[in-house]
Amino acid sequence: MEKTILEVKNLSVDFATDQGTVRAVRDVSFHVKEGEILGIVGESGSGKSVGMHAIMGLLAANGHVTGGDIIFNEENIARKAFANERAYEEKMCAIRGKEISMIFQNPMSFLNPVLTVGSQLREVIKNHNPKLGKAELGRRTVEQLHLVGIPSPETVVRQYPYALSGGMRQRVVMAIALVNRPKLIIADEPTTSLDVTTQAQVLDIIREMSRQIHASAIVVTHDLGIVASLCDRVIIMYGGKLVETGNIREIFYAPDHPYTKGLLNSVNNPENDDRELMTIPGSPPDMLNPPAGCPFVDRCNKAMRICKKKMPLLAVLSETHSSSCWLRQKEAKQHG
Ligand code: SF4
Repeated sequence: MEKTILEVKNLSVDFATDQGTVRAVRDVSFHVKEGEILGIVGESGSGKSVGMHAIMGLLAANGHVTGGDIIFNEENIARKAFANERAYEEKMCAIRGKEISMIFQNPMSFLNPVLTVGSQLREVIKNHNPKLGKAELGRRTVEQLHLVGIPSPETVVRQYPYALSGGMRQRVVMAIALVNRPKLIIADEPTTSLDVTTQAQVLDIIREMSRQIHASAIVVTHDLGIVASLCDRVIIMYGGKLVETGNIREIFYAPDHPYTKGLLNSVNNPENDDRELMTIPGSPPDMLNPPAGCPFVDRCNKAMRICKKKMPLLAVLSETHSSSCWLRQKEAKQHG
């Protein structure tokens, strides 16, 4: 059986704001196995990207992990597992870019505009391989650009990010993220703002690189098409909560949660072109005051009285499929 490379247990993240505390991620648990590609799907504000930043220790200054454990490669890397901030930062500096790498959604804000592509890539290699000589450093830099499909890498190493197209910049970001052969790749909306052809190429690189270096990957997206073509398993998040998880077949052919069904009804299905596309009426919950019960209650056409009062537990539907909906709980019939 494949080893579990990441296990997130009961993760909660809050943000302190002038308006009050935003409960961005609430008691979320999931795992990723070695070599597996996990998709995390949800609309803006569902907590998917915040959860990934919490794993990387990259929350904004007003963000705090308020509970839970983050077990990476059998070691707890949650802030609370360290004696002080310095010990935590030292550990995360050793992990970031080496053991876990992140591909961000906006390559222009990730890349330094006043440094050449080559120097940015060399810096990441050198950080984790301080004894490497100049010639070997140069060789690995060119080789890495070549691996992510950049034509003429010998020229590109000397160029600045502004001289490259959006697709080429995203490839450079991927080259930086993958150069130290991480065990886990976190890709946060990796194809946003790219044209369809470049999107497909970027997804191919993630798939191929994760296969080549046997890395696991988490792909955060709102695009179910990306999940279907790239991922092995998927988590659906809503209102800071995990509402359904399953393998691709279970989520796409036997969705259980009304929100998952709503999402699938709102996108094109190549197997059923004539189907009318539906929208999910209403708006996401206010995370300053999230509902005590199911976060989807105000938009759900199957809501019962109990849905407002209590959050349903995850009901296990198969070894890989779980859903958090009162329709699955016997208790709901007693309360109505
Ligand atoms: Fe709808 Fe209730 Fe299920 Fe939430 S728990 S999805 S409100 S039926």
